[in-house]
Amino acid sequence: MQKRLTILILTLLIGAYWLIQRAPETVSAVGHAAPLVVIDPGHGGWDPGAIRGAVYEKSLTLAVALKLGTLLQQRGYRVYYTRSTDTALSSTVLKDLTQRATLANQLGAALFISVHVNTEPTGTMAGPIVYYTRASLPSYRLATLMTQSLAATSRPHPPRPIRQWVLEVSQMPAVNVEIGFLSHSVDAQRMQSTWYQAVLAQSMANGVSRYLGQS
Ligand SMILES: [Zn+2]
Repeated sequence: MQKRLTILILTLLIGAYWLIQRAPETVSAVGHAAPLVVIDPGHGGWDPGAIRGAVYEKSLTLAVALKLGTLLQQRGYRVYYTRSTDTALSSTVLKDLTQRATLANQLGAALFISVHVNTEPTGTMAGPIVYYTRASLPSYRLATLMTQSLAATSRPHPPRPIRQWVLEVSQMPAVNVEIGFLSHSVDAQRMQSTWYQAVLAQSMANGVSRYLGQS
């Protein structure tokens, strides 16, 4: 009986020791949880977004978003993609956009980064534009830092305020990075290159790091 009791006490002691050993890790993971960045590749599934020949916005946004997410994970951030395959989140645009932002809200994301591709009828505009909601000063700051980071490798337009549903619903600093114009021949060409996609993702990751004050 006494032997059993000794074994039980020993087991408990070992268990307690194991928990204490793990505690600092657990505490640091909770106390200094890495910020969660929700990355939202625009469109998907039945919704191709902008189209130029056989090039779909939904494919370009996904490619850049996945690269951005990988870079952010390498920098220690937590990343959640609203989609990571060629799928839509809902059967209507409004429901789809609401779901994307609602996901970010429910997850308590630190930032929401939507990735899109622009298009306009003249075919003369090129370069990225970062959009933000006018009502949100943090979003404006994020858009500004993101634009400054993009300027290192491309020629972005100044950040622009916009009324966009997905940004309105998001409760955290949120931007929509339109990475270029599919209607512009050079932009269309380079946005398809994995090299340029990586360059854009790198700049965007730098913007995130600068905003979150970790670089
Ligand atoms: Zn779009």
